[in-house]
Amino acid sequence: MHYFRRASLFQALCLFPLLGLVALRANSSSAPASPTPAALAVVTEADQTLMSPSAAFIRLQEGNTRFLAGRRAARDLPAQVKATAHGQHPFASIVSCMDSRTAVEHVFDLGLGDVFSLRLAGNIINDDVLGSLEYAHKVAGAKLIVVLGHSHCGAMKGADDDVVLGNLTSLLARIKPAVVGVPADGKPRTSKNLKFVDDVGRLNVILAVRQIRERSIVLRELHDRQAIDIIGGFYNIETGKVEFYRPLVGAAPVPAPTSAADSVTPAAAAKSAH
Ligand SMILES: [Zn+2]
Repeated sequence: MHYFRRASLFQALCLFPLLGLVALRANSSSAPASPTPAALAVVTEADQTLMSPSAAFIRLQEGNTRFLAGRRAARDLPAQVKATAHGQHPFASIVSCMDSRTAVEHVFDLGLGDVFSLRLAGNIINDDVLGSLEYAHKVAGAKLIVVLGHSHCGAMKGADDDVVLGNLTSLLARIKPAVVGVPADGKPRTSKNLKFVDDVGRLNVILAVRQIRERSIVLRELHDRQAIDIIGGFYNIETGKVEFYRPLVGAAPVPAPTSAADSVTPAAAAKSAH
């Protein structure tokens, strides 16, 4: 019975287009050969107002293409300091891991004032992250939320191995729904199995994207009227490439937590499969 709960959660939420998960593909043929002027300039209020969520997505995609090609834009950062001194108009928020190899300003070739960057181990969602995102999108006008996981993530490994250490224990508990959500395949379910680690990482992104919508009335309202988009991404630390996902298409909602705690427990996650 327990297995079926795990399997149904995974199938309902996870990685396969059969159930509506849409991979957003980079179009390498349309990738710019050199940095676009927009990539070099500070985002103005008018730029942000006119930018659609899909245009924000394309800008990130183009930045990752430049990063991969070693064609990062040559920005005048001191000039950007002056240009952003009296205000900021970021076009996106990126919720990513604290991992030192995944700094989004590098991965997406960004300048000052381009994005809000929220970084916690395991790109977890909690009330503080949600409050920050609500400011970023309801108040500051950003158009796109990306939850960015990455391969070989140490936080996923810690959750897989049931690591217990001070305050880290409660952080890793937020990743447990993804750990139990990946179905058994006869292979080890520990950090020694890197495929399992990455399966947990991808499911953790999907659950995070869904939590943002389900746990924030403010962001759900913005998303419902298409003022913002909410997508997932997964950074390959071996290649530098980001693959994007749209976990919300065709997926059933995740019930909101019933307790005051802002974590989704493994039990609650299993429940959500029914
Ligand atoms: Zn990580």
